[in-house]
Amino acid sequence: MAMNSIEQLCPNCGLCCDSTLFADVELRAGDDSKRLKKLGLTLFAKTKTRLAFVQPCACFDGKLCRIYADRPNRCRKFDCGLLKGVAAGELTANAALKKISAAKIQAENVRALLRRLGQRDEPMALTHRYAEAMSAPIDLSDEGRAERHGELMLAVNDLMTRLERDFLR
Ligand code: SF4
Ligand code: SF4
Repeated sequence: MAMNSIEQLCPNCGLCCDSTLFADVELRAGDDSKRLKKLGLTLFAKTKTRLAFVQPCACFDGKLCRIYADRPNRCRKFDCGLLKGVAAGELTANAALKKISAAKIQAENVRALLRRLGQRDEPMALTHRYAEAMSAPIDLSDEGRAERHGELMLAVNDLMTRLERDFLR
């Protein structure tokens, strides 16, 4: 992938590091788990044979990867749909930045709705926060809460549509 596209898009995005796109990332063959742990990644056993690290990634500084030169193989190999689209000449970098901005606004909207529903566990992956908020019992006498649940479902649906269409293709 051309460094130019990465430099233009990624510092303005971070959605593949902050848990918006992924709840966790599996290590691959060739990754040095001990070294990655020392560098700050929070590893856990995802299956009997596979290690993964949780998102939001502990090495994401809010804009960039703190361990870019040493990042795991899955991170090296991941090119989102927007990077691929810009590389293929299907859209301009500016058009991709607009899509990033819209997705980030919607992700923040989802986080704000989660907070309003009492789910304030920011270090938890977005999808897990959503599952937790939706599994909490709804008091139907609290109309405002039922309404906020509905708003959250719509906002998550819109976010997922954007992520699948623009980033995960
Ligand atoms: S989702 Fe795409 S544009 Fe955004 S940081 Fe990841 S690779 Fe870069
Ligand atoms: S290691 Fe770096 S590139 Fe990979 S998820 Fe964490 S911050 Fe992102």
